[in-house]
Amino acid sequence: MTRTPGYVGRFAPSPTGPLHFGSLVAAVASWLDARAAGGEWHVRIEDVDATRTVPGAEDEILRALDALGLAWDGPVVRQRDRTARYAQALEALRLRGLTYRCRCSRREIADSGLPGADGIVYPGTCRDAAVPATESGAERFRVRDETVAFEDRVQGRVAQQLADDIGDFVLLRRDGLFAYQLAVVIDDADLGVTDVVRGADLLGSTPRQVALQRALDLPTPRYLHVPVATRAGEKLSKQTLAPAIDTAHGPAWILAALAFLGQPGVEGDAAAPMLAQAASCWDWRRIPRRTGVEAPDPAAMDGGGSR
Ligand code: GLU
Repeated sequence: MTRTPGYVGRFAPSPTGPLHFGSLVAAVASWLDARAAGGEWHVRIEDVDATRTVPGAEDEILRALDALGLAWDGPVVRQRDRTARYAQALEALRLRGLTYRCRCSRREIADSGLPGADGIVYPGTCRDAAVPATESGAERFRVRDETVAFEDRVQGRVAQQLADDIGDFVLLRRDGLFAYQLAVVIDDADLGVTDVVRGADLLGSTPRQVALQRALDLPTPRYLHVPVATRAGEKLSKQTLAPAIDTAHGPAWILAALAFLGQPGVEGDAAAPMLAQAASCWDWRRIPRRTGVEAPDPAAMDGGGSR
């Protein structure tokens, strides 16, 4: 085990449903990578998009992490408590002339934009329209016409030409909520996160986050994107009603997560000591260099998966 001085990691679930296998994999990978490095591991509830919050999900997730022995450091951070920080960051970007107000409706964008790396590329309609800040609308980040690249520890080099692949993206939504892309950058910087370990579904968001870090003079953490868990080729998610992890079968789920991550099995009948053992033999180089891997069948988990 190599200790990495100052390592700070995190797990950042959205409270849109209980912990399922896909989110468990992200939790286990980020926990093991942090613990193997002798680092800290924080939990942040990503409820910046309040419209997606499911009542009770936050408690369910925290209870499941606790029952599985995925112990965290410090207080749980909640995005709903941090809007003043996001507003400050947005103001800093405004002062640098890097934002503008946009009055385009979703419909108009869909009609005039072309498909890009993550949905429709915003065609820049309001970029030079000088829409007054008093007008209702979204606020967008003015991307530079440049390639933003980073080296992912597992997936390798990822590069996007933000102007062509994404377009100017939203920082403040028309409904007044801050966008995930802005919140995550500020949250990770404020926590001093050195290593982001999360699902590969966010690989395509990372160049936007790197661009924001640069615009705000914030450090860029190291990134490691683990494959997302799929079932019949589709991403396992709360939206696809992935079954909740039944912590009564914690050891079976931990073993399944380790196997998914290409790690050797561990012995035991309690999750916490099994995780401690897994941390001592954690080798991230064994993680499959793919963006998706089939999840185990919940029926095979000794009754695990209760929904
Ligand atoms: N909140 C996101 C999710 O639950 C994760 C975001 C991140 O790790 O940066 O998928």
